Amino acid sequence: MKIYDLIGIGIGPFNLSLAALLPQVECDALFLDDKEKFSWHQELMFEDASMQTSYLKDLVTPVDPTSQFSFLNYLNDVGQFYHFLNTDRKTITRIEFEAYCKWVADKLENRLEFNSKVKEVNYTHGNFEIITENKTFYANKLCVASGPKKNIPPCAKPFLGKKIFHAKSKEMLNLDLTDKKVLIVGGGQTGIEILRNGIKSKWGKAHSITLISGRDNLRPLDEGPFTNEVFTPNFVENFYELDQVTKDDFTKNLLLASDGNTPEYLQELYNELYLEKFYKDQMPEVKISPSRWLEDINPKGDGYELCIRNLLSHQIELLDADIVIMATGFTREIPSYLNNIKDYFKYDENNRIIIKRDYRLETKIPNTIYAMNFSMHMHGIADPQTSLMSWRSAIIANNLMEKEIYKVHQPRATFLNFFN
Ligand SMILES: Cc1cc2nc3c(=O)[nH]c(=O)nc-3n(C[C@H](O)[C@H](O)[C@H](O)COP(=O)(O)OP(=O)(O)OC[C@H]3O[C@@H](n4cnc5c(N)ncnc54)[C@H](O)[C@@H]3O)c2cc1C
Repeated sequence: MKIYDLIGIGIGPFNLSLAALLPQVECDALFLDDKEKFSWHQELMFEDASMQTSYLKDLVTPVDPTSQFSFLNYLNDVGQFYHFLNTDRKTITRIEFEAYCKWVADKLENRLEFNSKVKEVNYTHGNFEIITENKTFYANKLCVASGPKKNIPPCAKPFLGKKIFHAKSKEMLNLDLTDKKVLIVGGGQTGIEILRNGIKSKWGKAHSITLISGRDNLRPLDEGPFTNEVFTPNFVENFYELDQVTKDDFTKNLLLASDGNTPEYLQELYNELYLEKFYKDQMPEVKISPSRWLEDINPKGDGYELCIRNLLSHQIELLDADIVIMATGFTREIPSYLNNIKDYFKYDENNRIIIKRDYRLETKIPNTIYAMNFSMHMHGIADPQTSLMSWRSAIIANNLMEKEIYKVHQPRATFLNFFN
């Protein structure tokens, strides 16, 4: 029976970064993913969508600029280096980021296994047993990075299907909005990307498109240099030591540092609406309604009647829609394939898993489980972002190999004197 040093569950950017940073020979690691090949949020792959993070914060560069898996090496390898520089951009599109990740995945193919949906994990005879649809694997350690769970408003749950769905759903791939009354719930970046593509009739010309948002406006991402100090290793290391209530408050107040709208995108959207309203008059009817909360849904004819609370007037507003797309984000929940081992985990008073500084779960068993993108409550706002993914992977790689392969502690303080 073969026992891997590590099995990684999920091959999104986070585990791909770890796969790229782990030593190729000394570490017998395998990463599993349910998809048939690498892809990145395909349902939301719009041509006008850009990364909200610098391309230098790729899978490896911040901890190993000499790595063969860097974005710059990708550009060089595919013969685009000079042309890319001529584009004079600080960020790349999501299409480019996905292509780069695919290129890395191809290079690492001997340690990645696709078409492998993990159904169940057991702890047996001092090892993990990982059961996929076709095979069973054994490993001494796990790294769980299978992504968060879709957040669905409770009133929408009974109606989920072809007409009411979360934005990250297969329905987005074959969407037809022709002549439809469309409601988009959520004014984060995904919500406005669907709105903008919708009003440009990417999915056929809709009758009308309404976007509602619980927030009081469409707000730009806060990417000021001082705000961005929170996306540094030094900040995260100090933040980790704070008490839980302080951490929760701090993270909540920083929402716009991670969940705001890309400023240039907002500007472009506004400019398009301006031209439309005063000169063109070609788009479907558009309404953007902030300070609104979806409270109830009732079937009406072939569509639905939506009860929406206006958070300013406190009145209920009724809206008819044929299609409801929920750009309502994600929540962090323990994946169901871990059900058989979740009693070994330790939890805080809010029933959230306790994650150590080095991304190991606190457990009652000797074997290590690392978790990525489950620790916003402990490591702060950077946790779900790509900004520090390579740094986190480097910490895990060091821990796994029991030596300092990568330098992860940065002695230089942040410019803001947060902690002393
Ligand atoms: C549209 C979108 C754009 C984003 N853009 C940015 C950005 O610009 N900058 C930024 O910092 N962050 C961004 N984020 C946030 C975050 O960086 C991404 O969500 C990122 O993909 C998280 O990586 P991940 O590896 O944790 O998860 P994912 O990319 O979600 O990958 C998880 C993988 O696990 C697989 N999987 C799930 N369950 C199983 C199972 N049971 N068995 C096997 N495999 C399984 C899935 O198929 C998937 O391939 C974005 C998020 C979204 C949704």
